[in-house]
Amino acid sequence: MLNNPLITDAFGRRFPYLRLSLTDVCNFSCSYCLPDGYQKTKGDCFMSADEIRRLVTAFAALGIWKIRLTGGEPTVRKDFVEIANIISTIPGIKKLAVTTNGYKLPERAASYAAAGISAINISIDSLQPQKFKDITGHDRLEEVLQGVDACFDAGIKNIKINTVLLKGINDCELDDLFNFVANKRISLRFIELMRTIDNHDYFNKHHLSGTAVTNRLQELGWQEIPRSDGAGPAVEFTHPQSVGNIGVIAPYSKDFCKTCNRLRVSAKGDLQLCLFGEGGNSLRHLLQDDNQQHELEDAILSLMQFKPLSHFLHQGNSGTRAHLASIGG
Ligand code: SAM
Ligand code: SF4
Repeated sequence: MLNNPLITDAFGRRFPYLRLSLTDVCNFSCSYCLPDGYQKTKGDCFMSADEIRRLVTAFAALGIWKIRLTGGEPTVRKDFVEIANIISTIPGIKKLAVTTNGYKLPERAASYAAAGISAINISIDSLQPQKFKDITGHDRLEEVLQGVDACFDAGIKNIKINTVLLKGINDCELDDLFNFVANKRISLRFIELMRTIDNHDYFNKHHLSGTAVTNRLQELGWQEIPRSDGAGPAVEFTHPQSVGNIGVIAPYSKDFCKTCNRLRVSAKGDLQLCLFGEGGNSLRHLLQDDNQQHELEDAILSLMQFKPLSHFLHQGNSGTRAHLASIGG
């Protein structure tokens, strides 16, 4: 099963990887994502632990072996650890990861590891406390950095930092961010700012191509490393004098979608075939009873033929996504 995922699309791509959003709610207010914080919308009702169990069981039966929990901020859910425990014991799931803003991570990292989370992506857009606060709305850089250490102490092997590349804000910190991983077994990945419906002006002001990072990496002697099976969308670089790696996630680059190996399900149970697609396909009605599993699997397989070859970002079409907190990036 590990090397032979059954889910394929019309273009022959295979899908071992599901990004599962647990909630749209977030306690941070990142300037490019939720600048006014999370706004509750009518009818917000996120999948229960039981619905999530049924969903992941079906995807695992179809060969998905890597799950990433995301949000919003997935860890604001009171049953977050319970959900992680359930998913990590579903047959076929080999790797359970989470993407988090690092809130309360120092005190919680050990419980995440005990629940079967073996990989964690922590968002840090600046190593300067004031700038971190300006971006996220929270004066918590120190806490998040302690959280990174707590993940090491808890035995979480695969630790990554997500840094959204922001022109005029953190592009002056490239070398500091490279140095941050010099003595740590961490991969820090720069994510190109993506345009959503809510952030057009911000995007126009602060988007910077990932080539700004790759050019600087090459100047400093970093070398690209080959992509591994089930890997995310980052192009990774290594340097003989650095323990950690640097990655670049550049959704606007040519051929970004060619290696797409991931599907997304929103917190409300919609299968999203593309991060920037037009809406989702609800699976919620098939998550109500354990007996629906085969029907659910059939629905997932038949929806796969509609997965598009590529996003339409280059044509200025960022789909119907208001912000990435509604699907998890
Ligand atoms: N709240 C968690 C966090 O921030 O890590 C998980 C959800 S967040 C939507 C997932 C990732 O998407 C974060 O690394 C965040 O920085 C990134 N992100 C959010 N909006 C983005 C945008 N418009 N462009 C690029 N990355 C974005
Ligand atoms: Fe919240 Fe993550 Fe969006 Fe920041 S990027 S507002 S932490 S969902």
